[in-house]
Amino acid sequence: MDASDWHKAAAELAWQVECGVTETILETPVNRYEMSPAPKKAVTAAAAPPAMPADPVVEAEALAARATNLPELAEVQAAYDHCDLKRGARNFVFSDGVPGAPIMIIGEAPGRDEDREGKPFMGRAGQLLDKMLGAIGRSRSEDVYITNVLPWRPPQNRDPKPDEVAMMMPFVRRHVALAAPKVLIAMGNHSCMALLGKKGITRLRGQWHEAQDLPVLPMLHPAYLLRQPHAKRQAWDDLLALQAHLTAKT
Ligand code: URA
Repeated sequence: MDASDWHKAAAELAWQVECGVTETILETPVNRYEMSPAPKKAVTAAAAPPAMPADPVVEAEALAARATNLPELAEVQAAYDHCDLKRGARNFVFSDGVPGAPIMIIGEAPGRDEDREGKPFMGRAGQLLDKMLGAIGRSRSEDVYITNVLPWRPPQNRDPKPDEVAMMMPFVRRHVALAAPKVLIAMGNHSCMALLGKKGITRLRGQWHEAQDLPVLPMLHPAYLLRQPHAKRQAWDDLLALQAHLTAKT
């Protein structure tokens, strides 16, 4: 380096010190304008929202739709875990009678006897029901199929709650579709409400309604008839209406 280079370099250094340079890091300067841009942060997948709890009715719909026959339906419904009644019941009560029979009776829920035996309408109300059917020449061993809206006994035979009914109705509807009866009997107020969305069995009984493209006859529940024997006359009228309907169709 000659003297003029030395003086030039000393002047440049003095100028840099004046500008605030306090430290030398590299031999050669770095042109940061020419450097490649800083790597972008990897785009991570948006954090998944917290899992929503399963909707009991949606799940019931999906399970019921999967069943292609009655034993499969019984299996998926028995395994369904959203209904708390299941935990207090002794047995799952699915049905009794003849699958595919022209008459399908839909009651409310198992009571003590049904819970013990695992079949619907086993107690006193069931015995009266058998007599009523016998009076028009029908029976669960030949041409009647029976189920309930709820397959598990409510504690102390309390009324079914709306959410319990809502989560069981997908199974009931599938049950009807697979059993393919000619008529449905909505036995009592709760069954009427579940199947037709209508309350007031004493007003609705004896008139034909429709659900799932099937004729539905609301009838007084045999348990009600045990308490109100004077109403048996109306039940008899309804049985005759049922018999007339079936005879006219065959
Ligand atoms: N009442 C019902 O509605 N169903 C039964 O199985 C027994 C009593």
